[in-house]
Amino acid sequence: MDALESLREELLKDHLPLQEEATHLVFGKGSSSASLLFIGEAPGKNEDLQGIPFVGSAGKELDTLLDSIGLSLDDVYIANILKYRPPENRNPNREEIRSHSPYLLKQIEIIKPKVIITLGNFATKFVLAGFQVDGMNHIQGISQLHGQAIMMRVKDLSFVVIPLYHPAAMLYNGSLRKILEEDFKKIREVLS
Ligand code: URA
Repeated sequence: MDALESLREELLKDHLPLQEEATHLVFGKGSSSASLLFIGEAPGKNEDLQGIPFVGSAGKELDTLLDSIGLSLDDVYIANILKYRPPENRNPNREEIRSHSPYLLKQIEIIKPKVIITLGNFATKFVLAGFQVDGMNHIQGISQLHGQAIMMRVKDLSFVVIPLYHPAAMLYNGSLRKILEEDFKKIREVLS
């Protein structure tokens, strides 16, 4: 069994908060040897039903954006901070973040990505605060940070973080589409 699969098994046995309410664990998808890791906030309804991250309308937008820079699921890994859906998509609380997020860190330790893309305010603040809930309030918002490449070191890992608007945001605000398309081109530049 590979390292991600055994981590998934460990997670299932851990009885984390939200597990009871959820239909499925939403662990991650993509390549375990990817240089590029995308981090979202939490599974939504479709993700919960299928047990796969980013399969709803935001996921379709993400697929199109990836395609626009010539990347597919073979080149990236996609995961969330929360591994189970919060009921009615409410915001996760501190305890839920604290108990779920060590699994995201373990995924990062296994995959060792060169570049981490944080999707939206929540993932951006959490990652740039050093994977800590405390400190998230001190991080600037996505409108200031999107498209920047920020070097980070966590434990003995180092990677570049590029915060991007969440693809769901452009479903509500059409003017963000152009910004996301431009920011995606920067991912290509940083990877090359
Ligand atoms: N939004 C997220 O942040 N993650 C998903 O998996 C789906 C929608």
